[in-house]
Amino acid sequence: MKKKTIITVATTGAWPTKEHNPNIPMTPMEIADDVYKCWKAGAAIAHLHMRDDDGKGTMSVDKFEETIQLIREKCDIIINCTTSGDLKATNETRQIHLKKLQPEMASYDCGSMNWMHNTLFINHPKFLEELGQTMQAYNIKPEIEIFDAGMVYNSFHYLKKGTLKGPLHYQFVLGAAGGSAATVENLVYLKSLIPEEATWSALGIGKGHVPIMLAAVAMGGHLRVGMEDNVYFSPKVLAESNAQLVTRAADIVRIAGNEVATVADAREILTLKNK
Ligand code: ZN
Repeated sequence: MKKKTIITVATTGAWPTKEHNPNIPMTPMEIADDVYKCWKAGAAIAHLHMRDDDGKGTMSVDKFEETIQLIREKCDIIINCTTSGDLKATNETRQIHLKKLQPEMASYDCGSMNWMHNTLFINHPKFLEELGQTMQAYNIKPEIEIFDAGMVYNSFHYLKKGTLKGPLHYQFVLGAAGGSAATVENLVYLKSLIPEEATWSALGIGKGHVPIMLAAVAMGGHLRVGMEDNVYFSPKVLAESNAQLVTRAADIVRIAGNEVATVADAREILTLKNK
């Protein structure tokens, strides 16, 4: 049987604007249409960020709700909500949407760091404990985002404490300003640290995008693509759409001899409970 590789699409993120790439979806309607096209191209998970009416990152529950409703009218893609969509959000507003909307997955940024060389990305231990409890209470699978090795060790602490429950699912985010560079060596190292039974996915920001994708597939990992991480398709060439990025990822999966995981496959591989 062929190995199944899950493709996550991160359509929007908190930062890029139409000035960076006019094709980035920003409104609930644009995001929902985009997610549907990505689902048709092979994405099984949609990692969602919301923007306010000025295009800034927001944790607005109403925007999440509207977007998820619009997506649900079109397809059953797994919804993965960010918990880090606005650096000014409080510990409380980073979780309200989880309690109200109960998505199948949500991001869990397993530590703090300097961010973009001009600000802080704070995930206080108290917040991570609360967030882990919220996710358990609502059967939401954490996607544990890892920007450097210390965050992997943090995840072991929360696993031991019961704040996180295995099997864990990791997302290695490589190439963020302030985190580990997007090199194959870093990916191999980070992957070597996680438990045997854990599942994992990876993404490279910038010029590491395609090399990290190729390495992740070769190493048995899953993939994340999308304009949250890369507004370019190739050097100096803007992505035409998120679906274009998903289509390339799906091609790579098939070239490697794997199958692109369906939504049902992904639910099984990630042992999701919130169907
Ligand atoms: Zn995100």
